[in-house]
Amino acid sequence: MDILKVEDLTKIYGKDETQVTAVDQVTFSVKKGEFVAIVGPSGSGKSTLLHILGGVDRPTRGKVFIEETDVYSLNETQLAIFRRRQIGLIYQFYNLIPILNVEENLTLPLLLDHRRVDQQRLRELIETLGLAERMNHLPNELSGGQQQRVSIGRALINQPALVLADEPTGNLDSKNSKDIMDLLKLSNKLYQQTLIVITHDQNIALQADRMITMEDGKIIKDEVIRS
Ligand code: ADP
Ligand code: ADP
Repeated sequence: MDILKVEDLTKIYGKDETQVTAVDQVTFSVKKGEFVAIVGPSGSGKSTLLHILGGVDRPTRGKVFIEETDVYSLNETQLAIFRRRQIGLIYQFYNLIPILNVEENLTLPLLLDHRRVDQQRLRELIETLGLAERMNHLPNELSGGQQQRVSIGRALINQPALVLADEPTGNLDSKNSKDIMDLLKLSNKLYQQTLIVITHDQNIALQADRMITMEDGKIIKDEVIRS
């Protein structure tokens, strides 16, 4: 089953002479549970594509379907709710809220949605993330690896269908990078969660089921690594 379908997606920034086609007529689909790596040179449109898939940047043309929902037919309010329930976004820089502690940062998506915190699931997640001793800490009291684990927890707490990560290990050393990728892969396997990761790291790309290469806003290669 395809969880994600992208049709003829185009994103143009700017006007007239300064116009940039960041994503250029991209079409592809992703199966439920698939782990896809997106690679390609800087400026090739990877982040723009990921943002459009994540419901945070409207395309100029084309459509995105996530679990049959035509994402950009939703209005802003519907889109915000859809995003919180269905999509987990992870960035290179953790985007944690500095005045909230670890537990508050983790559970924020639930609170914004007026949903109950399932204490059992929260405890399991905290154990998996290795953050049990850190729940009352503020983000600036944590190491980079720990901060990224919080941001992953926040992305996973709603058990989203689709997890999107933009260079999630770009700011981490190799030991922390491995731990973070292991966490993402575990969640991908355990919950049949679909995982799309932008990376410059060939070692990470080779852990995926499939590698998509972008250049000048287009997909120039789409390879199965393992099936
Ligand atoms: P990548 O993630 O592969 O480095 P990006 O998606 O960030 O590529 O960028 C693709 C192209 O779009 C680049 O030429 C970049 O300069 C341009 N671009 C990205 N975001 C914006 C923006 N907000 N405004 C104008 N141009 C942008
Ligand atoms: P990890 O391997 O989990 O990333 P580190 O070895 O980098 O942890 O850090 C060890 C401890 O030092 C962490 O548990 C954290 O509490 C503290 N620490 C690390 N970096 C910082 C920082 N930039 N600011 C505050 N505390 C930090």
